[in-house]
Amino acid sequence: MTTTQAALRTLTAARVLVRERLAAAGIPNPLTNAERMLECLLDISRVELYLFRQQGLTESQQTQLDHWVQERVSGKPLQYLLGHTGFYGLDILVEKGVFIPRPETERLVEEVIRLVSESPVPSHPLRILDIGTGSGAIAVALAVNLSGAEVVATDVSEPALLLARKNATRNGIADRVHFALVDLFPATREAFDVIVSNPPYISSSTIPNLMPEVRDFEPHEALDGGPDGLNFHRRIIEGAKALLTPGGLVALEVGEGQAEMVAAIMQKTGYRDHRIEKDLCEVGRVVIARKGGHG
Ligand code: SAH
Repeated sequence: MTTTQAALRTLTAARVLVRERLAAAGIPNPLTNAERMLECLLDISRVELYLFRQQGLTESQQTQLDHWVQERVSGKPLQYLLGHTGFYGLDILVEKGVFIPRPETERLVEEVIRLVSESPVPSHPLRILDIGTGSGAIAVALAVNLSGAEVVATDVSEPALLLARKNATRNGIADRVHFALVDLFPATREAFDVIVSNPPYISSSTIPNLMPEVRDFEPHEALDGGPDGLNFHRRIIEGAKALLTPGGLVALEVGEGQAEMVAAIMQKTGYRDHRIEKDLCEVGRVVIARKGGHG
């Protein structure tokens, strides 16, 4: 321990040492992981990490950092260690047992915001349903960016809903986001202008092949989408018809290779104007359609 502690004396030394330990353990992006740990440990920004590079760590900070490195080496996702992550420019709390929001999902949020902003303004506050809200990332990002919108967010996981509520409060929109512990749809049959979801979409048989970091640490009920991964998409597309206002939007995230199938299901179910939006890796990631009627 003496050598470790001596080497951890400055931020620069800590950055190098942590990166080396993570790299040696085969952890991807070791430098980014090391820098995120230090930023979080000292509650400083990336720029400050460089500005204060000669600053020393205290003994308790070194102990905390060592603990994080050990946990990270054991495969625990960085976001669970640090307890929060960035999503659509917001700070979102995460914890083990609740799905970590992914950058791909920002595409879904971005597209919904764009389409809603282009649509005729409804005569009532915009009403959005976020199904399988997890940490609340989508619901919170939409409420923050669509002022006045009312959001209902559902999940079957009580820990997820507790965390999502905290995220709504921290981001100042708790009065416009309502949470319900239900299977997909809220019990009240109110209408929604937008139904959005990033549901579980991994096919059951491929779960064992997922990266251990995902398979062994994230909740399975957030991942498993049934035999072809599309169980939830089918149920949401079918059920959303009865809840959407005429011209209302259904917007779903999909896994790689699923977009065309989901678009076909939407078309067959009677939706119109379906479109597929790609993510930064050119993977069809978001499928959106409108319920028939005006709009
Ligand atoms: N929307 C979040 C979480 C996605 S993970 C995000 O994008 O980060 C999928 C979520 O769906 C999990 O939180 C899981 O608990 C929830 N879920 C699984 N089955 C469900 C069901 N039948 N009804 C509602 N939510 C469900």
